[in-house]
Amino acid sequence: LTLLGLESSCDDTAAAVVRHTPGELPQILSSVVAGQAELHADFGGVVPEIAARAHAEKLDICVEQALLQANLLLKDLDGIAVTAGPGLIGGVVAGVMCAKGLAAGSGLPLIGVNHLAGHALTPRLTDQASFPYLMLLVSGGHCQFLIAKGPEAFQRLGGTIDDAPGEAFDKTAKLLGLPQPGGPSVEAEARQGDPQRFRFPRPLLDRPGCDMSFSGLKTALLRQRDRLIAEHVGLRRRDRADLCAGFQAAVADVLAEKSRRALAEYLTLKPSAPILAVAGGVAANMTIRSALETVCTQAGAAFLAPPLALCTDNAAMIAWAGIERMRAGARDDMTLQARPRWPLDQKAPAMLGSGK
Ligand code: ATP
Ligand code: FE
Repeated sequence: LTLLGLESSCDDTAAAVVRHTPGELPQILSSVVAGQAELHADFGGVVPEIAARAHAEKLDICVEQALLQANLLLKDLDGIAVTAGPGLIGGVVAGVMCAKGLAAGSGLPLIGVNHLAGHALTPRLTDQASFPYLMLLVSGGHCQFLIAKGPEAFQRLGGTIDDAPGEAFDKTAKLLGLPQPGGPSVEAEARQGDPQRFRFPRPLLDRPGCDMSFSGLKTALLRQRDRLIAEHVGLRRRDRADLCAGFQAAVADVLAEKSRRALAEYLTLKPSAPILAVAGGVAANMTIRSALETVCTQAGAAFLAPPLALCTDNAAMIAWAGIERMRAGARDDMTLQARPRWPLDQKAPAMLGSGK
């Protein structure tokens, strides 16, 4: 099967072509990502209306590029996969409309994909992970543990009850005057810092289960920052590095401890070759990565971290999830709806298309 995938649920417009022949390794024939960072830079966050307009403008160009790079025409494809949610509704609608147009014009099948399923199925695209595997999705908008049991079967074990870690990194950067996106700049700063100097909370570790909370870290950071500013009439270089290191260590500790618990629950399924896989931009963080790796080693599980370009938003994961859904017999039609909210442990849109 060869599918075109479209992604437009947040602030990246993306198109990709993925091919898979059973028994062979999946091939990413092209993967085009057009970011919008510069459009939102002045606003301190993604502005939904601007994002939607930019998606509408860029989708066609991305599709054209993706087909060109794959050296294919629409008629060489077996289907069109598109993110149908969750995400910013304007962007998702733009993607779904574009995909419907392409499908109608070419007569190709249309497959709606859950963006989170795209992330969660990536370890099968990159490493042929076999079900069931444990997944930690950790990005700017999401943080949750899932057991992937099949292309459309996901069990959620827990997740953040407030901010996502990427969001916390971004806010931390903002509070300390570091550039956006916050993850890489906080990580760079933390490299020179002492993680022990300031005390940061480890929220919800005293509670059983896999739920997490990260908004308290930001409050703790704000308090320490203001105290330091009052003491020295400004933040010293050293203070900033120590704050970043302390904050990052707290996030890593929480993710590691909750991963330990999620692994314990997942291991009761007795998978023959246990796997913890990560996805999402925060998985780029080396401190967090090595903390998770240690947890896996101790639990006897393999640790999978796909290449960064496939960890962050992209359309190759959507094309791949489309291939998996198609193999499972799923098809959508012109009634496919864009859904701003769409928890992964609910059914696919085809089954919800009429009457909710
Ligand atoms: P989602 O995919 O959940 O809709 P998103 O587009 O914000 O949201 P990603 O593109 O996966 O998510 O990741 C971006 C987030 O990852 C940002 O919040 C960014 O700060 C964070 N991030 C990137 N690199 C690092 C890093 N080295 N350390 C920590 N966080 C990082
Ligand atoms: Fe995403």
